[in-house]
Amino acid sequence: MNIQAILLDLDGVLYVGDESIAGAAEAVRALREAGLKLAGVTNTTTRSRRQIMDKLAAMGVPLAAEDIHTPAALAAARLGQRRAMLHVQDALREDLQDVREDAAHPEAVVMGDIGGEGYPPETLREIFLRVLDGAELLALHKNRFWKKPDGLHLDLGAFVAAIEYAAGVRAVVLGKPSRDFFLGICRELGVPPEATLMVGDDVESDIGGAQQAGLKAALVQTGKYRADFVKRSGIRADLVLPSIADLPDALHLL
Ligand SMILES: [Mg+2]
Repeated sequence: MNIQAILLDLDGVLYVGDESIAGAAEAVRALREAGLKLAGVTNTTTRSRRQIMDKLAAMGVPLAAEDIHTPAALAAARLGQRRAMLHVQDALREDLQDVREDAAHPEAVVMGDIGGEGYPPETLREIFLRVLDGAELLALHKNRFWKKPDGLHLDLGAFVAAIEYAAGVRAVVLGKPSRDFFLGICRELGVPPEATLMVGDDVESDIGGAQQAGLKAALVQTGKYRADFVKRSGIRADLVLPSIADLPDALHLL
């Protein structure tokens, strides 16, 4: 089946930190001009959708706020009217403004990226105690590590795993590689999963997650890509490309 839609991971595919990847904006424009449906699919929980769109617009990437899918919107929907303890950066609060916050007696705890060096031990203990008391543990994603300009850092997933291990529970993971996350976006775009290509730099979250949901997946060798992690993962992308700039010319290979 021909590819009708392309889901683009953002960090590591279109940019690393504040540096855009060479040729990224031109590639996205070429895909759009070829008539493909496009969506940004990010586990970034440090920025609101509006801020992400502003950053992309400054780089010349034609994606609107409603084209950008984040785990925060899913978290708000899952929480509904339940009381929640939120651990997210201030920037994300505009995407969670309808949530009933109650840190003392939460029915759910939401773990997102909190910035700095991650979760301090005293915060992890607070979350651990609430989860032991029965609060549902929701993770905005479960990435193992991420890349900053100075190198690799522990990502949210490492802290979520600490709570899971200590409290003996499994977190509900809302972002990539959740199957429901990918399938929900395909449904919204009106495109079957097998006609959708996910493009990412994270072999587990982007490539493995998308393939599990029945999508095709292209791995780019930018951002956090490392050949040894790919080998160890045992996951085989449908397409491997030096960068997003090579995608428009490679689509016919699928
Ligand atoms: Mg990425």
